[in-house]
Amino acid sequence: MKKVIIVGGGIAGLSAGIYALQSGFDVTILEMHTIPGGNSTSWRRGGYFFEGGMHWLTGSSKGNPIYKVWANLGALSDDVSVYNRDPFVTYLDSSQNICLYRDVNKLEKHLLSISQADIKEIKSLCKNIRKFSAISMPVTDIKGVTVKYKDKQKGSMSKLFKMLTAIPTMISLNKMSTGEFAGRYRHRLIRELLSSVVPVDYNATSLIFTLATLATGDGGYPEGGSLSMAQRMAKSFERLGGKINYNTLVQKVLVKKGKAVGVLVDDKEILADAVVVTVDTLSAIDKLFDDPLHDGWMDVMRERTKLTMNSFICLGIEADLSDLPENMVMTIDEPFTYAGSDINTIGFNNYATYKGYAPKGCTSVTMALTGDTYDYWKNAKEQGTYYDEKKRLAEVIIDRLSSKLPQIKDKVVVWDVATPLTFERYCGTYKGSWMTVMGKGSKMISYPTTSESIASLYFAGQRMQPPGGLPVAAVTGRTAIQYLCRDTNTVFQGNI
Ligand SMILES: Cc1cc2nc3c(=O)[nH]c(=O)nc-3n(C[C@H](O)[C@H](O)[C@H](O)COP(=O)(O)OP(=O)(O)OC[C@H]3O[C@@H](n4cnc5c(N)ncnc54)[C@H](O)[C@@H]3O)c2cc1C
Repeated sequence: MKKVIIVGGGIAGLSAGIYALQSGFDVTILEMHTIPGGNSTSWRRGGYFFEGGMHWLTGSSKGNPIYKVWANLGALSDDVSVYNRDPFVTYLDSSQNICLYRDVNKLEKHLLSISQADIKEIKSLCKNIRKFSAISMPVTDIKGVTVKYKDKQKGSMSKLFKMLTAIPTMISLNKMSTGEFAGRYRHRLIRELLSSVVPVDYNATSLIFTLATLATGDGGYPEGGSLSMAQRMAKSFERLGGKINYNTLVQKVLVKKGKAVGVLVDDKEILADAVVVTVDTLSAIDKLFDDPLHDGWMDVMRERTKLTMNSFICLGIEADLSDLPENMVMTIDEPFTYAGSDINTIGFNNYATYKGYAPKGCTSVTMALTGDTYDYWKNAKEQGTYYDEKKRLAEVIIDRLSSKLPQIKDKVVVWDVATPLTFERYCGTYKGSWMTVMGKGSKMISYPTTSESIASLYFAGQRMQPPGGLPVAAVTGRTAIQYLCRDTNTVFQGNI
């Protein structure tokens, strides 16, 4: 049995590990942390539970082809409830609230009730949501691999056909950013709402795809959140006979005569027949080899990747916020400056109704300020003001929220701020980035899984297929093992 080492026990590493075991390899995952999941994680502070790696999951519903991948990995099953919050986003305004409903007919009616002046744009938006709802990314097999499934997936090709018919619309939406798309609406509230779904620098195709995913009843939140999901996958992996070595930092991938032959841990060589690297590819190609790798596609990745990053603020509040929406955005009365940007809106997730996320009568709240603040935080670290800056950010947010929501005034008992430096330290991701911005004009791209210069080396993870995220991590883990199977004349097995 061929021995495979997987570097990293995040979602991509666990996915690769499970598929490799199912296909008959002897697999060990080496993970630098004490728990699985990487970015797919949640944590507790002072009795409050903070969800930090998943707000919605593509493939959470059975109608989406990726569901079968999640099911095969043990991430989802009939025993795992999936929660579809609706409205997905609510923009709170002193005059009138506006909601992003999942149901496209309800959404259309609601938006029209707010602005008849935008009738043309609203109709076109909803038409495109309906069009995009008919398509989803199929899960396909690579050329040249022999596959054996217990339950063959059907319908992928017809989905692919529907996708082809939507291409002209995608091309035209791809030419503008979400911010520009939202800017076409005359009504301020519709502009605010559409700017709150995905970051405004993402292209408008990403926005419509997201709305379509939600409209199909997908994009839910599996119970227990991201860490529980990773733990279920780790259990599946171990049940199949795989071994996860935690607290194990891989220093280097060993390459001899143009072939990956193992890894270096604690200055000791661990040998294997193949190595699958699931650490953020941008970090891995610079740091995990004797010299940085420069295959053609790797330099394209270095040049093209626009990093998604954020500062993530968590609050534990001794107040029951269950009468408020679960995801809300509001314009604050007193804007503030943070890392050189003016912040005038705050959006947050309110977990008041989620069992076990906070003590009784209390609420766990999280929010993300997106944008590249890596240098800002790095500078603060070097200046010795890192903690003070985090505290200042938490305090200004608590102050602005309290003025909008008087029920939380003096009730915030826990705060926690994760910066890009936190994500970098915790997951080893490049500058703490955990996805890739699909900006205006950006091309759909899947980077090759293999290296042109090193044999028996495979890459998987969020960076391999922008914009990334959990489904990409899972699917690229699967793809890496298809390449491994192809190269070793092994039948690829799994239930898709
Ligand atoms: C705040 C936030 C919200 C998010 N929301 C969503 C969402 O709603 N939906 C969605 O789809 N995605 C979301 N994401 C993104 C998603 O969580 C990530 O894209 C995904 O988890 C990446 O998985 P991965 O396996 O590719 O990489 P990682 O999670 O980065 O896993 C890499 C693993 O490798 C380990 N590692 C690194 N270096 C080494 C080394 N040298 N030796 C050994 N181990 C090493 C790390 O510890 C980690 O466990 C969110 C992320 C964040 C941070």
